[in-house]
Amino acid sequence: MEIINGKKIAKEIKSDLAKEVEQLKRLGVNPALTVILVGNDSASEIYVRSKAKACAEIGISSNILRLSKKIEQKELINLISRINQDAKIHGLLVQLPLPDHLDEDVVVQSVALEKDVDCFCAENVGRMFFGKGEILSCTPAGVVELLRRSGVGIAGKDVVIIGRSRVVGRPLAAMLINLNATVTVCHKQTKNLSEKCAQADILISAAGQAGLVIEEMIKPGAVVIDVGINRTKEGKVVGDVVWSAAERRASLATPVPRGVGPMTIAMLLKNTIIAANIAAKKLNKKQVTK
Ligand code: NAD
Repeated sequence: MEIINGKKIAKEIKSDLAKEVEQLKRLGVNPALTVILVGNDSASEIYVRSKAKACAEIGISSNILRLSKKIEQKELINLISRINQDAKIHGLLVQLPLPDHLDEDVVVQSVALEKDVDCFCAENVGRMFFGKGEILSCTPAGVVELLRRSGVGIAGKDVVIIGRSRVVGRPLAAMLINLNATVTVCHKQTKNLSEKCAQADILISAAGQAGLVIEEMIKPGAVVIDVGINRTKEGKVVGDVVWSAAERRASLATPVPRGVGPMTIAMLLKNTIIAANIAAKKLNKKQVTK
């Protein structure tokens, strides 16, 4: 079995993106991302810091706005509206989860479409589903890019995805259908999960359950992509797939860590640059029509 090294592939992507950032800067556009963090969830703090670090690595400026967990929804939406109007900020994301008194859907939908680098706004999601979107969901886009850069053909393949969340399973299914795969999406109420998985040329697990994917679920020679991130009692980070099972059955597989995770961040950077390009085009149009 060959290992798909997500960390290495993400590094290559980031080095290409750094060149795009330089080009934008030469045109007078400084790509900038703002991250809103409400409250002090420790996992979210780690995520936003790693996003900021990745931005710095390739020359994107980033700003983390840390807000009180007691902030009122109206105040938060007003802040988002102000950032929406700020031409110097190209990407805006609200780190989830939000405290219970805030309506995540309303908050997320208030981000301007052209700054929605997480691809959570309904219109962007719709465009992505029909294969028309420029900005794509980060983790699914990361999975597709991993497959592409590992030379895995997608058209005509039988793909099984475990998980139907809004951030991974559903958008990933849409993207793979658009690339002409035959996709089965499984979830907690799916019957005969093992049998379904065992038919997959490409098996993708995004369930968040350590030890879920065992040997009998992997078709010999399949490509196995493990999106899951789980912490064991001993504090070790593992995926959903039993690694020794993948080693015995798969032809290619992603490890956890250093698999899909680094790709998610690389795709966030890519989306921020796409957003900066959209802003640059708008600016140009205005200057030409003046
Ligand atoms: P979620 O809890 O929103 O969704 C999990 C999905 O898996 C649900 O649809 C559920 O029905 C399904 N599922 C769970 N257990 C199952 C089982 N035993 N059998 C069949 N289906 C099952 O989670 P999410 O936000 O989609 O994240 C999923 C996992 O991926 C988590 O471990 C998360 O940490 C990880 N994740 C990783 C990245 C990354 O960058 N690598 C990004 C996002 C999420």
